[in-house]
Amino acid sequence: MLVRFWGTRGSIAKPGPDTFRFGGNTSCVEVRSDAGTLLVIDCGTGAHGLGQALMQERPDGMEGSLLISHTHWDHIQGFPFFAPFFAPGHTWDVFGPSGLSGSLRSVLSGQMQHAYFPVTLEQFAATIRYHDLHEGTFRIGDVTITTHLLNHPALTLAYRLQADGATVIYCCDHEPHAPELASGLGPLSGQDLHYAEFIEGADLVIHDAQYTALEFPAKLGWGHSSVEYAVRICEEAGVARLVLTHHDPLRNDATIDLILAGVRADLAERGTPLEVLAASEGLVLRTTPRTPEAAAGAPSAEAGGEAGSEPGPRALSSESGGPPALVWVTDRDLEAALTTALRLEGLPFHVVGGEADLKQRLERDGASLLLLEQALPVRDGPGLVRRLRESTAMADIPVVMLAALQEQARYDDPLVSEWLVLPVSESFLRARLRAWSLRTPCRWERARPPQDEERRLRRLAELDLLDTEREERFDRLTRIAAAAFDVPIALISLVDAERQWFKSCHGLATCQTSRDLAFCAHAILQRSDLLVADTWLDERFAENPLVLGEPRIRFYAGSPLILEDGTCLGTLCLIDTRPRQLSGAELSLLHDLRDLVLLELSPKPWPDAVHHS
Ligand SMILES: [Zn+2]
Ligand SMILES: [Zn+2]
Repeated sequence: MLVRFWGTRGSIAKPGPDTFRFGGNTSCVEVRSDAGTLLVIDCGTGAHGLGQALMQERPDGMEGSLLISHTHWDHIQGFPFFAPFFAPGHTWDVFGPSGLSGSLRSVLSGQMQHAYFPVTLEQFAATIRYHDLHEGTFRIGDVTITTHLLNHPALTLAYRLQADGATVIYCCDHEPHAPELASGLGPLSGQDLHYAEFIEGADLVIHDAQYTALEFPAKLGWGHSSVEYAVRICEEAGVARLVLTHHDPLRNDATIDLILAGVRADLAERGTPLEVLAASEGLVLRTTPRTPEAAAGAPSAEAGGEAGSEPGPRALSSESGGPPALVWVTDRDLEAALTTALRLEGLPFHVVGGEADLKQRLERDGASLLLLEQALPVRDGPGLVRRLRESTAMADIPVVMLAALQEQARYDDPLVSEWLVLPVSESFLRARLRAWSLRTPCRWERARPPQDEERRLRRLAELDLLDTEREERFDRLTRIAAAAFDVPIALISLVDAERQWFKSCHGLATCQTSRDLAFCAHAILQRSDLLVADTWLDERFAENPLVLGEPRIRFYAGSPLILEDGTCLGTLCLIDTRPRQLSGAELSLLHDLRDLVLLELSPKPWPDAVHHS
């Protein structure tokens, strides 16, 4: 079976820069058997994208089945926006539990009443059949489906799908029957044991993991699992692979990374074979039949989502010989607690003597982590971090700040990765230190300067173009490029020592950005076209601030501006806010425009200036 995630968020859609990697759309998963049976599980806002894709694949008609876990909004809000329902020739069977307020059909039609939606359920053009479900087993095509009632305020079903010799299980939303199991510890009994039996031996379990064990007590009765419970149940049931989903709307990407790292480290320590992933929009997984040989190795993940391409549990950084964690606190007891925890976790560390020492070590060796105190003697911890960030290259080093009082923790400070309010238990401290040491590296690469950098900068200065006035002879070229390619932004970028400066910028208000951020700095390094079809899928750019924030670059195509003497000055580049590809003909057009830019940069009789292409 092939499993593709279209919506991974719980409760409410939460698109935005903090959630773009794991996704902001609510629950929707596509499952296909090898024979082609199409199942869609849940119909949150993620179903919109799936509907569009299905219409492209089979505009004239297809058969599919929609399995709804329950009719809370985050599981049905995509229902009125699912394009195949509006297409004649499509046939869909919709399955789900009937709620207290009537049949599945009447509940679904309720959210399409005139006050909420302009089209009624009766106006769908596809043939749609509705089926109310209880616990039991039935078949759709070559897939056998078994349902199990979950512990949630609404009547909610888990689905167990069996086909192609493999088992995929979907469990959203579900709270442990025994609340103490949210910690992931303690014996399973009663309903929880029965639930573990339902999951028994699955190849892949897609599980509600909205909260952590720490958060759970405040959410008791809300009907959701903790990460720890999902892991425990799957370990108990001998599951091969667990995908955590239904991410809380307040959970940002970085926190999911941390949670995942913590879980993987725990499992590795205990030598448990369970593989754990976090669901991300676009993640594609394929199950393999669980023959004894296949069961010994992990099922394969296809490319398509960032989490899917991640390696399994990674080694502790102490084993990889990375830079040490740097510790600077004034309280001796606190220092002892921190160093003990670091030692127990096997993480290399160094206790620094003061600000000068800290700065020097950062510059010389870097650090895996900074552990600082909110109230340092010289200046406050966050202030120190601000100064360090300005003067040293520590952009991606996490900072854990210890505060004596809850009021001192300024959670909105973007430079502090995590606040720990004292006192913290040793086990909690160790878990946090381990999580940070295992964190996912930042997916943003700064380009190295090219080898001929000095000469290049000299030549660029000689041209006397930097910081000159706008000129129509350049502006007309970016205007034509933007129109010809239908992109909002086209630039003539000159890469200076510390910045890229735009000789012409169509569609962008700023005339320069830092070189660290510049896509064009990569293009001049490789001296050939740099084409990034989708920045979100590119390890070099996914977390670049120009991708995460304005102008939200999603597509980039830059052709280097190389003078006759070989000097690469910058690029002519196209930027879009949506992913796209360039055809061969479009690429030729880009080259033609680039050559016109080169003619303007160093006027020469045609065609001498352009023969390098
Ligand atoms: Zn939900
Ligand atoms: Zn729910």
